Amino acid sequence: MIVDVPDCLFCGIVAGQIPAQIVLDGKRTLAFRDISPQAPTHVLVIPRDHYPDVAALAAAGDGLLDELVSRAREVAVSEGIDGTGYRIVFNTGADGGQTVAHAHAHVLGGRSLTWPPG
Ligand code: 5GP
Ligand code: ZN
Repeated sequence: MIVDVPDCLFCGIVAGQIPAQIVLDGKRTLAFRDISPQAPTHVLVIPRDHYPDVAALAAAGDGLLDELVSRAREVAVSEGIDGTGYRIVFNTGADGGQTVAHAHAHVLGGRSLTWPPG
């Protein structure tokens, strides 16, 4: 884990250098709205510290991944989509479609989501 990576977009949001619509502000995590929402609710939940992807976060094994998913659930409740359902997505690596190399969970809901993904 690295606390802050200079050229990382999401480290910039954590540092307050890049504006974002914050949904939940936690000690170890931050949740904010995706700039290009793919559903009525599209929130990103990230660790404040820099991990390149969810695999690195899992490998760290300090309960942070558990906490991230708990925060995703809290987002779903506060957005009012816990009853209708939602999707938690960790795009990982190139084939997974990951474009920002700072671990993040997408919380998507508010409409019926299709499967399989493209
Ligand atoms: P990935 O493709 O890595 O799974 O997800 C990265 C997400 O970050 C994308 O859904 C993209 O729309 C979002 N994103 C990219 N730049 C920004 C930004 O500057 N602010 C916010 N809030 N989201 C961003
Ligand atoms: Zn980062």
